[in-house]
Parts: sequence; structure tokens; C-alpha cells
Amino acid sequence: MRATTIHGAFDIRVSDVPDPEILRPTDALVRVTATCVCGSDLWPYRGIHPSREGGRIGHEFVGIVESVGDEVAAVRPGEFVIAPFTWGDNTCRVCRLGIQTSCEHGGGWGMPDREKLLVDGGQGQFVRVPLADGTLVATPSVPDDALLPDLLTLSDVMGTGWHCAVAAGVGPGDTVAVVGDGAVGLCAVIAAKLMGATTIIAMSRHEPRQALAVEFGATEIVAERGEAGTARVMALTDGLGVDAVLECVGTDESMQSAITLARPGGRIGYVGVPHVGELPLMTMFWRNLQLGGGIAPVRRYLPELRDRVLAGEIHPGRVFDLTVPLEEIPEAYAAMHERRAIKAMVLP
Ligand SMILES: [Zn+2]
Repeated sequence: MRATTIHGAFDIRVSDVPDPEILRPTDALVRVTATCVCGSDLWPYRGIHPSREGGRIGHEFVGIVESVGDEVAAVRPGEFVIAPFTWGDNTCRVCRLGIQTSCEHGGGWGMPDREKLLVDGGQGQFVRVPLADGTLVATPSVPDDALLPDLLTLSDVMGTGWHCAVAAGVGPGDTVAVVGDGAVGLCAVIAAKLMGATTIIAMSRHEPRQALAVEFGATEIVAERGEAGTARVMALTDGLGVDAVLECVGTDESMQSAITLARPGGRIGYVGVPHVGELPLMTMFWRNLQLGGGIAPVRRYLPELRDRVLAGEIHPGRVFDLTVPLEEIPEAYAAMHERRAIKAMVLP
């Protein structure tokens, strides 16, 4: 089959790789119908995180179940399924606590499992899915193609934005600031609105992203950054700061901004892979700031978010502003790296 491989900084290729097959009775084989490039794929792409020469990449996909092992009971061949960005059993002690990203038996896509058997990356034609019963979430019927983008966001960005709002304890009547206008930040706006926030301030400098934030429920746009951005948010909140900050970037600058925007006793959710120096714990102490979040256990939110998509309640797939065939995936990476695209969908 054809699948995406990474060969170093800015070197993404589509290669011939072995066709995956069922290796264990708990596996499913999924034919990928849509996948995408994640902001976190850009870390190895830019050479900031190391990659294995020829390693597989991609952790977001939806598709059709081709075949299943003897012990798989929750999904059947022919069903449409959504894969969260990590796989796991969804039954162990940690999964039952709702932290499926730390599953005692799970792992990541595009790397060997605990028995050294390769688990395919998401950016390819087929994927062997371990622990299929716990990993995959099916839809009641094969959805219309028009819903593909919305359902694909549930693999990662919509669930991650949702987790950010959960971690920041967003509730009815809250004033919320969203730091970051990438796909996760935009999805966090959707989450904040659904959780009842009445003022949602999107921090965004880019006009198309500002428009999408407003469409998703943002009530204010702040284009300024740094001290000027903080001053605008303070002006919008009578000098108090916001109840909750959704930090959806992970850079030092964005985390420092989040800390300055929160009111005394405010809550900060963070879901971007952190590339942060030191947290100003003393500042956070004197202002009673709470910090919550981490890698998003999107499997926990998948059934609920699937139902909201199927009901037409949310349209997070609007974050995709570029679609390419698999053979052109290097262009998808380049477009996201150069910020020409918010998020790129890839059709195998
Ligand atoms: Zn588990």
C-alpha cells in the first residue's frame, strides 16, 4: 500500500510499504477514507522533534472496517469508524478514569507496539488497529461524504479543544479567552460556546481565522499580541481578566499570555504540546491561578462529539481549508508549515 513516511526535516514522502494484516485476534484492519496533517506533525517536519528515517507518520483518520480478528465484537466489517489519536483498550484502570491517552495497554500510531509489531501511521491507505474494541468508535450507518471533515476532527482537534475547555472548567456565564487560532483553538471556541460561556474572546491576527472563530461562537476578536493583547482583554473585562483561558498553542509566549489574561482565581486549560521555559509559579500562587489539562484523552469524548456532529449541532470540519490526494501530502505539510492552510485534509 501507499503510506506517508518521514525522512528528516522537510522531507515527507509517499512510499510503498507492506500491506497491513490482522496480526492479533483483537486487531481490526481499516481502509482509511480520510486523514489529515496535525499541528503536532509539524514538530518532526520542522526537525524540532527527531524522527526515525523512513518512519511512518499521522495519527488522525476515519475509514471503513475491512476485516476484524476473532475477538473483536464492537465493530464489524463495512462499518464507518473514527480513530482517536492514540489506541488503547478503554477498559483498564486508567482508561476507566478517563485518561485513555495513558492506557496501560495502549500506544501511538506509526510505531511498534509493545510486542514490536508495527502499528501503521494514519496517513496511509490502510491501518492495522490494535485493541479495536476499545480504540474505534463507529457511526450507526456509513455517513454522507459531506460529514467526513466534521467526523475526522474528532480524531484529534475537536476532542482536544473540548478537553481544553473541560480542563479549564468552562461553565454557563463564563468569560473565556482562547489563545491560539489554529484548528484546536478554533475547536475550543466551539467547546466553550456549547459549555455555556457567554463571552468568548478569540485571540487571532489572521482574518480568515477570525471569521471562522466568529462563526464558531466567538463574541470578541483581539488581534493584538503581548502587552497590547492583554490590555485589550483587560478593557473588555473591566480590568478583571477572564474566568477561563484556553491555551491551545504550547509556546512560551502563549502560556505567558494565558497567565496574564486570567482573573484572580481564574483557570487555565492547556492542550498544546508545551515548549515552555519556566512557569511563573510565584505569580500563579499570589493570584490563585489554576492550571489543568495535558494530552487530550479524546477517546473519552468521542461518542458524545460523534452524536453532536451527526445531529448537525457542530461543524468543526470547517477548519479544513485545503484538501489534497495522498500522493500530494508533502504540499499539505508545506501549506500548514507556511500557515497558508489552517488544516489540511488528505484523501487516500
Ligand atoms: Zn486502557
